[in-house]
This record gives sequence, C-alpha cells and structure tokens, in this order.
Amino acid sequence: MLEMCGGSSIKRGSVVLVKPNLLAPAGPETAIVTHPHIVRAAVEYVIEKGAHPQVSDSPAIGSFEKVLEKSGLRDCLRGYDVVFREFGESTVVDVGEPFKKIEVARDALKASFVINLPKLKSHTQMLLTLGVKNIYGCIVGLRKPEWHFRTGVNRALFAKLLVQTCMAVNPSVTILDGILAMEGQGPGRGGIPRRLGVLIASNNPVSLDMAVCRMLGIDPFSLMTNRAALDMGLADSAMEIEGEMSLVRDFKFPEIIPLVFGPKSMHGFMRRHLVQRPVCTHSNCHRCGECWRYCPARAISLKGRKISFDYEKCIRCYCCLEVCPYGALRAEEPGIGRVIKKIMRYDRQEQE
Ligand code: SF4
Ligand code: SF4
Repeated sequence: MLEMCGGSSIKRGSVVLVKPNLLAPAGPETAIVTHPHIVRAAVEYVIEKGAHPQVSDSPAIGSFEKVLEKSGLRDCLRGYDVVFREFGESTVVDVGEPFKKIEVARDALKASFVINLPKLKSHTQMLLTLGVKNIYGCIVGLRKPEWHFRTGVNRALFAKLLVQTCMAVNPSVTILDGILAMEGQGPGRGGIPRRLGVLIASNNPVSLDMAVCRMLGIDPFSLMTNRAALDMGLADSAMEIEGEMSLVRDFKFPEIIPLVFGPKSMHGFMRRHLVQRPVCTHSNCHRCGECWRYCPARAISLKGRKISFDYEKCIRCYCCLEVCPYGALRAEEPGIGRVIKKIMRYDRQEQE
C-alpha cells in the first residue's frame, strides 16, 4: 500500500514522520490505538527506503511514554532504528478563514514525508474518526481542547478546523487500521471493539474517509469533515477503489443529532434539554481527574465523592468521554429529549 501510494518518493536519509492514533494508554485489544504491527510495518518500510522513521503523537491522556508502553508499541519496535518523540514545539500556520492562524506540531510540518496511520473508530461528537481527524493529534497538548472550546457547539465549524489542520500537515499517505475497529460510543473506553478486517490506504485522506463511509453504508457527506471538505472544494466523489471492500451493514454508529438548529432564541433550550449530555456511572469512576483536567469548558467538578457536570457551561464536545480511562462516562439524552423524539417519531409514523 505504501508503495502504491507514493512511498517510492521517500528520500534516503530523510526523516519520515509516522503518526498513529495514540489517544491514550490502552492495549491493542481495546481498539483505541493504532495496532503496533501496523506501525511496525510502516517503520520497516521507511528503514528499507534508507530513511529515518520518527513515531510521534500528542496523546489526550497519559504520558507519551505510558502510551508507548501500554499500546505495545515500545516492545513491538524494540531493536528498530526508530525515534519516538512526543509532539512538543509548535509552528503557527495560516490556514485561512475563519481560523487563520493555528499552531501545529513542528515535527509534523517539517517532515519530508508523513505516514498517517489512523484507527477506524466511532466518535460520539463527529460520528467517526478516520484519516482527516487523526491529524488533529498534531495540535499539541491542551491546545486541542482549547480549539474545541473555541468552536463550541458548532460541529460544522469544528469539522472545518479538522480539515484545515489536515491540509496544513498534508499527509503523504494515509493507511487506516480497520482490522480491529471500534463501534458504539467511541473513540475511548465507551466504544466496543469490532473486527472488520480491513486496511484501507490512499494519498488523499478525504477520499479515504469517503470510501470508508460507503463501506459502512452511510452517505459520505453525513460525515461532517467530508461535508466541510466538499464545501472547500477538496472532496472528489469520483474515486477509484482497488481491491475488495465489502459493505458492512450493521456497524453501530453513535447517535448524532444536531446540537442546535432552528431559531437562535431556542438554542439554549435545545442544548439543555434535547442534546445528549455526558453522564457518569459513579461506580466506575475512580476520581482520577482526567475528565475535569481536559474539559475545555471547565464544566466538570468534584462534589463530595462524585463528579458533577455544569450543563450550562458544557459545550457537548464529549472530550471527557474520550479521555476517561475507566469508561465511566457516556452520552445520554435528557428525559425531555427522549419524550420529544418519541412524539416526533409517532407523528412521522402517523403521517406515513
Ligand atoms: S469520570 Fe473517568 S476521567 Fe472522570 S474522574 Fe471519573 S474515572 Fe476519572
Ligand atoms: S463536560 Fe465533557 S462534553 Fe461537556 S464540555 Fe466538558 S469535556 Fe466537553
């Protein structure tokens, strides 16, 4: 796949950045991180080309070292001439309107060739995390939740930021690890591993994401990053697919409903009463503090021995679900939202 997607242009002696999904310290059986064997294959290829592989990411939780250890990556690459380096320094890049200047990991920008190795996972906020979204890991550390906060409840705006970040890094090739994928309330511990047995590669991450949507039986433009790319003139639906890609009929997507719609005066009410909110299964909570440290809206606090959410402040980014190491958080629709939806469904059935 690397050879077919332009790997032959890797120059001897150059540094090649390998960017897996290293969200959190988790073993490969959880499907949270890119499988270490996929990373190793990419590293071996780079070494064969006479270049220098560097494996980097900026995990949302846990230290980089811990993620390397828990994911099995450190062991899997023992003895290989590879540099592991957490993204640290950033460079300001002008990505155009509306964000203009964003800070992106310097290592990702200066590498002569970038191998993007996303994991196929469901995503409570954005439906799926695939090729384009994986590059958001090149935004360093707490800048990631800061951007969540700045884009607020506007998923379309956040999708645009994801596409613009991806275009700034411009990965040379993207290989999606969908061998053991994740469905349900991903991309963290709330998701369920699902064996799909696929590896998909492209030198265009948007095309890859569109192809994956087709494979999962959904309209490619229901994925907001693809929609944003289309609006930016970056999505070409006339793609060619080589090899077999069977339709997956029963992939479990997280339920995504628009965060706000209709007249502006109703937005507050909708967010409070209709939109899924993070809730905690207190018996699973270890009060580790990862969620409140990461929450971009400062909407989580510890009250007595239980964590508590300020739903007025919460922007429904679901970052807390993503970073909870114990799967104690889930997204749940408020009671009134469930009732309204039932009425709407009933009404639709009546009309049909
Ligand atoms: S909900 Fe999860 S992340 Fe938050 S304190 Fe509890 S265990 Fe830690
Ligand atoms: S409470 Fe969770 S969903 Fe709400 S803003 Fe904080 S991290 Fe995002």
